Amino acid sequence: MKLSKESKEILANNDQLIESIRHDNMAYFTTHGRKKKYLILTYGCQMNEHDSEKLAATLETMGYEATPFQTDADLILVNTCCVRENAELKVYGKIGTFKTLKEKNPDLIIGICGCMMQQDHVVQEIKKKYRHVDIVFGTHNVHNFPGLLNEAMTSKHSVVQVWDIDGEVIENTNSSRKFELKAFVNIMYGCNNFCTYCIVPYTRGRERSREKEAILDEIKTLVKDGTKEITLLGQNVNSYGKTLDNPVSFAELLEDVANIEGVKRLKFMTSHPKDLSKEVLEVMAKHDNISKYLHLPVQAASNTLLKSMNRGYTRKDYMEIIHYARNLMPEVTISTDLIIGFPGETDQDVEELLDLIKEVRYDSAFTFIYSQRKGTPADEMTNQIPDDIKHERFNNVLNSINEIIYEKNLACNDQVVQVLVEGHSKKDDTLTGRTDGNRTVHFLGDESLIGEFVNVRVTQPKKFSLYGELVEA
Ligand code: SF4
Repeated sequence: MKLSKESKEILANNDQLIESIRHDNMAYFTTHGRKKKYLILTYGCQMNEHDSEKLAATLETMGYEATPFQTDADLILVNTCCVRENAELKVYGKIGTFKTLKEKNPDLIIGICGCMMQQDHVVQEIKKKYRHVDIVFGTHNVHNFPGLLNEAMTSKHSVVQVWDIDGEVIENTNSSRKFELKAFVNIMYGCNNFCTYCIVPYTRGRERSREKEAILDEIKTLVKDGTKEITLLGQNVNSYGKTLDNPVSFAELLEDVANIEGVKRLKFMTSHPKDLSKEVLEVMAKHDNISKYLHLPVQAASNTLLKSMNRGYTRKDYMEIIHYARNLMPEVTISTDLIIGFPGETDQDVEELLDLIKEVRYDSAFTFIYSQRKGTPADEMTNQIPDDIKHERFNNVLNSINEIIYEKNLACNDQVVQVLVEGHSKKDDTLTGRTDGNRTVHFLGDESLIGEFVNVRVTQPKKFSLYGELVEA
């Protein structure tokens, strides 16, 4: 993938800009006896998390240090998500609260980025109502953050840069990874699917893949640095590599990553049922280090709704994949995404969904109430579902899903499961980690086990997690 002239210039200048800001920050440190601090608030999906990691790495190279407190920060970045209305409202609320901070500390830099900024009406709203915001940039402008920050600091006026064009694939932007033992690796950006409810293709642009060698190199470095679990990330990983000059299939990439020495656990998300090939499932079945865990969003069960959502598959197609996966890997755990209250949804459609849930028996599910997104075809549909009906249907579906998840957790009782220990539980004094099939497990143990694979016998299955006891290997 070739870089535009503009991006080449940006990248060529970045080192100098970072160095200049670092120099100023060192001077600040010498005068004030403290480093400047940054806070990044991230909403939405793993793509945003990953962009935030890159921004954090850049800020740390500039000499900033992280703080969890907004009152302590010299720079606040909000990385926004526009997939759900709820997240958008939270962002506006949050930006509003920064006004008082800015009044107290006029040197505070406030930046807003991410998917919401790709929508012109949002940028206009921020310019009009949130004048205390210093920097606004889009999903295709993350690599220009040093330039935008420099401009905002030197000019003292707000800076807006939102490219409308599809972003390029920009390599060599280091990320400051949050979890050393688990790492997300972007293999592609954007999406070509245009599901009628989804804003992503408009905000993240068309699909483009990273070169396979760049991905493999990144993973080799991660493994060398001690990362145990790799998740290959993309909006639709199954169509990876189609747009490369020398096309590569996702199955080939998956196999090559699984063959890297030291990759202990390998996952991928998100899979689109329309593009998930049998070869990918066969590669999964063949390699012990690929998790037997499949996240396969179905969204709806009725063919009428699937068509209206522009999902590109039928219920029968979806079930064929599930059967093929389970035949190859009887132990595979399957999770999904569901949308309740899509325009035109009938009681019969909900019945079909409940029926599909019983047939698949998901191990977990992310269930969402449909919310209208400006700029998407579904927003224009006239047969929107009233809120009270949406909520009633949502509760029915959630109850049905949760019942099955609990039954499946109960079936784990007395089983010994392998757990990658991730850290301390937020709720109690146990350690917590995940099984190969993505179930959360809590158990008592020494903190030296964090980062290790251990065996745990399940003694107390709960609704959404498992409790157990360590078992000697
Ligand atoms: S596959 Fe559909 S839901 Fe997923 S990102 Fe692409 S357009 Fe959105």
